[in-house]
Amino acid sequence: MSIVYIVSAPSGSGKSTLVNELFKVVKHLDFSISYTTRHPRGSEQNGKEYFFVTKEQFEAMIEAEEFLEYANVFGYYYGTAKRFLRDAEARGNDLLLDIDVQGAQQVKKCIPDAASIFILPPDREKLEWRLRNRGLDSEDVIRRRLDTARREIENYSKYDYILVNERLERATDELKAIVLAERIRRSGDKPSTEESRLLEIARSCCLYQARERVRPILESFGALGGLDAN
Ligand code: ADP
Ligand code: 5GP
Repeated sequence: MSIVYIVSAPSGSGKSTLVNELFKVVKHLDFSISYTTRHPRGSEQNGKEYFFVTKEQFEAMIEAEEFLEYANVFGYYYGTAKRFLRDAEARGNDLLLDIDVQGAQQVKKCIPDAASIFILPPDREKLEWRLRNRGLDSEDVIRRRLDTARREIENYSKYDYILVNERLERATDELKAIVLAERIRRSGDKPSTEESRLLEIARSCCLYQARERVRPILESFGALGGLDAN
């Protein structure tokens, strides 16, 4: 059985950067390339970051029940094709889904033991800076992303792991540790010293360990805090 990893984050938190770093160091992990009706950004290529399709094509896929989950994000359709999970399983690989909060909840319903990870920026100011510095979005879109970020962040407690992307190197190590720790845990084997170290890092990112780290971030967004909010 493949392990399904769900990664979500407010736009601009550094999720794509972290996921790219992860794929450089972890083997036997496939990336689920989503379908979307939004237009390609920057240097994005069809079949690499996304499959770019029309609304009609996307709706035909919904009709044919080809999606594991799909959602409307920023006015466009985004969806995960079931075939990616079948293909990963056939190859004996695990599968990573980069999807939004709505999609994560849908996947958790049909695959309860999927491991979900929520990536947070250090605070609102740094998120705004990263969005501007990335230079891909208009002022209008940046405003909308920041507003959406606040609402998305309020859902952090629905995830198994919380990762704060402050320093890229540390966050990459933590993401890698979470992915490997899930494999170690599920193998049922006695962990080696190195594996115990990874398990310890992963544990420090577990939802209930991360509470203190998350509170000031929520406050910087003016988001509803606390685990009781959900
Ligand atoms: P996302 O995929 O979450 O929308 P990106 O990976 O595109 O975000 O990152 C947004 C911007 O922030 C990019 O310009 C990226 O280079 C930068 N970035 C990512 N992680 C860090 C970090 N830890 N520190 C500083 N800048 C970062
Ligand atoms: P972007 O347009 O910035 O690439 O992505 C916008 C949002 O859509 C991100 O939060 C991303 O995780 C989410 N997203 C990408 N693919 C999918 C998908 O297949 N399903 C869902 N539900 N969300 C997705």
